[in-house]
Amino acid sequence: MEGDKAHQGPSATRSSVKKIDDNSVATMSEDVGKMTIQQAQQSQDQSIIREQIAQAVGSESAALLELRHSIDKGYGLFAATDIKRGTCIFKEAPLVLITHGASESAETVFYVSQQVSKLCPNQRRAYRMLHKAIESTKSPVSRIMYDKFAGISSRVDINNAGQRKIDDFATFKTNAFQVRLNKGIGTAVFLAHSRLNHSCSPNGHQSCNEREGLQMLHATRDIIAGEEITVTYTSLVRTWSQRAAELRRWGFACTCNSCQGAGASASKLRRERMFDIDQAIAFDNCPDPMMRATSRPKYTLPTPIAGKLAWVEELAKLCGEEGLVVDQLNAYRECPKRYVELGKLDEALAFAGQVLQLHRVCYGNNYIPNSGAGLWISKLKYLIEKQQKATALAQGQLLYQERLTTDEAAHWVGKKAWAADKKVKKRAKRAIKAAAEKAGLTTEEAETLLAGIDTEKLTVVAEKLKGEGDIEKVKSIIAELSS
Ligand SMILES: [Zn+2]
Repeated sequence: MEGDKAHQGPSATRSSVKKIDDNSVATMSEDVGKMTIQQAQQSQDQSIIREQIAQAVGSESAALLELRHSIDKGYGLFAATDIKRGTCIFKEAPLVLITHGASESAETVFYVSQQVSKLCPNQRRAYRMLHKAIESTKSPVSRIMYDKFAGISSRVDINNAGQRKIDDFATFKTNAFQVRLNKGIGTAVFLAHSRLNHSCSPNGHQSCNEREGLQMLHATRDIIAGEEITVTYTSLVRTWSQRAAELRRWGFACTCNSCQGAGASASKLRRERMFDIDQAIAFDNCPDPMMRATSRPKYTLPTPIAGKLAWVEELAKLCGEEGLVVDQLNAYRECPKRYVELGKLDEALAFAGQVLQLHRVCYGNNYIPNSGAGLWISKLKYLIEKQQKATALAQGQLLYQERLTTDEAAHWVGKKAWAADKKVKKRAKRAIKAAAEKAGLTTEEAETLLAGIDTEKLTVVAEKLKGEGDIEKVKSIIAELSS
């Protein structure tokens, strides 16, 4: 109505101007009063939320966090200090957990309401201060609830208790997400996790630690002090329009850097290509022939394994360029098995190592769920060891074979030389013996003389005796044998 008065323009009388001034002052004072009350209320609300978050995550983790208003997104959690990639920012138990489907039934509404009523007053207050998407309160369940309460309660109940139940359920529907905790699969709302806002290039990753029954948040890249800590509400290997449609469920249009920043157009192209590759990989991995027959992916992976690998590695590279560590990890998971199919075990092991390293960033050092990376590494190490042993065995066999061949050859050479030596020795002995008998020695004396003399000496003496007719000379040459 202030606007209407302003449009009265120059024709307004002096008294009416004065009256307006008085009214304006009164309205302004009233507004200031209202604002002061609102500010005080807001400040009290903030301190309750902060206190409850600190209780939920513990003082050490709370020191890393700052609760602030995020532009267009209500409250958000910000880094109070620099946070290194891979840090577990906080772990938290569910505030409200339902272990069956969160369908819009009267039973679910009552179950949520029952859990909310069991919270301590400040927890309940912090829960009720979580964002509530309008769509949920307009949902069919609201009508069911109103009908139910209209039948059994007074009008006051419909307006108060009934509406509160519907509101609590709307808060649950807006903030709950599926969790896999020690009690099995459930849907839960958290005090800190549910305060995290969405980004299509998030710096945080939420995961369930089933052993501890806690929901974890890890920094997927270095976060600088003052930066908002974000997670994703939707699949990120999707096109911009697919993500936008999905995010409309929460009643907002994303304004992150990938959607509206300077690099948005490049990001849109990358995500389109990522989506196509992801669909082709999913089709390639689909074991169900019926589903394969009815699926219509835009592309299918090239048939040779090397071609498939090139696509998988392209997806991992694009995820890296988009800063999507979790999706990069999922793409890398494909690599070890593809390299094994190619028989390249060392490459498979290198990729399995990369998977494990990214896994630690997203899930932490101490908690390794069924990532497959650890199993791959053990399997590959075993296969490589087996392959190395087989290679060593084959090499050993080869060496043994070579040695056998060499030994055999040497043996035959030796045998031949020995036979030749024997022949020479025999001939020399015969000549010397004949000469000795000519010189008057008896056969026994000649044999005694020749015993134990080596072939070389026998040959030399036999050579000297050749054609020698002089008995004295023959005797003198033969005497050399005993010298
Ligand atoms: Zn976005």
